[in-house]
Amino acid sequence: MLLRLRASLTESDRELILRFCKDLGYSPRFLGSAREILELEGQGRPEDRSRLEDHTCVREILDAGGSRELTARGPGEADRVVRVGEARFGGGWVSLVAGPCAVENAARLFEIARGVAASGAAILRGGAYKPRTSPYSFRGLGREGLELLADARAETGLPIVTEVLDPRDVAEIHELADMFQIGSRSMSNAALLTEVGRTQKPVLLKRGMAATVREFLLAAEYVLSAGNPNVVLCERGIRGFDKITRNVLDVGAIAHLKMHTHLPVVADPSHAAGRRDLVLPLARAGIAAGADGLLIEVHPAPAEVRSDGAQALSLDDFDRLARDVHSLVQLDGRRLAGIRGEEQQAADPGLLVRHADPRLPKELTA
Ligand code: PEP
Ligand code: MN
Repeated sequence: MLLRLRASLTESDRELILRFCKDLGYSPRFLGSAREILELEGQGRPEDRSRLEDHTCVREILDAGGSRELTARGPGEADRVVRVGEARFGGGWVSLVAGPCAVENAARLFEIARGVAASGAAILRGGAYKPRTSPYSFRGLGREGLELLADARAETGLPIVTEVLDPRDVAEIHELADMFQIGSRSMSNAALLTEVGRTQKPVLLKRGMAATVREFLLAAEYVLSAGNPNVVLCERGIRGFDKITRNVLDVGAIAHLKMHTHLPVVADPSHAAGRRDLVLPLARAGIAAGADGLLIEVHPAPAEVRSDGAQALSLDDFDRLARDVHSLVQLDGRRLAGIRGEEQQAADPGLLVRHADPRLPKELTA
């Protein structure tokens, strides 16, 4: 590890930081006569970087070296593949997650669930507990919404993902859903992250709308360090200054995350765009940047939607998007999980382009 110390440290400060590093198990030595760069040799632990960052003598960590955090991709380390029923994220697998922003009623949910399943979605998503910006907006059906989602799963066979807002709801949602969603507004809720981290159920963790990539990864670190390795990161757009889109899809962050973490990354073009006409191009951009899946809001009657109506795709538009994404995924030598991928592969197994991405499991590169 390589640290830059604060300028103007006294000799006793330097003694202090040397002792601190030795107590962590490192052999420290200064590089250069200014004695501001400290090199630490030794086997690091995931927690060391944050401990050193918090130390009053340290200005910045120049290189975390071997003290990798749990979310970091080690040299040559393969993707973690997160499975949710038949859906798979990472390791060359791409999954479509689709559904209404909020569960509204049984008939509507079933109509959407059947439609997205037929088009190739691998997971049904719908909010039962909605974190609305205004407390007076529709905040979801709660327990009733969860039960409707479970009924839709029984009907279609699709696993379900739904947002958990409160650590007190983790047990209830654990019982009914196949994956937790942690929303943008909750990304830094440490108590919630720890609580889902105590389970083994997959977690779809959305980036806070003003969170840096480092803060996003540290939120995932909460879940992993509590014992749950099954995290899927979701880039849903960050706050920008231009009202032309609701948020700015950070495509660079998707590509960066794919290199620097072994966790799967999905893109949410719906909340990034905030308008349905941009969902398809942003979905393409997300996949092209390496996303392992997409989260798409779908609703057949935009005028009746109780939340996020402007960004919801019709069932036909979702079908077009799924076809389009399937072609892109194949071009990339990856596979779409779920029925559309299976059908297509059965029709023409040669369509899968083999390429030598070292991160792909052997079965895909052979
Ligand atoms: C949602 O997924 O419907 C949602 C509220 O998204 P976000 O947390 O990204 O705002
Ligand atoms: Mn929404």
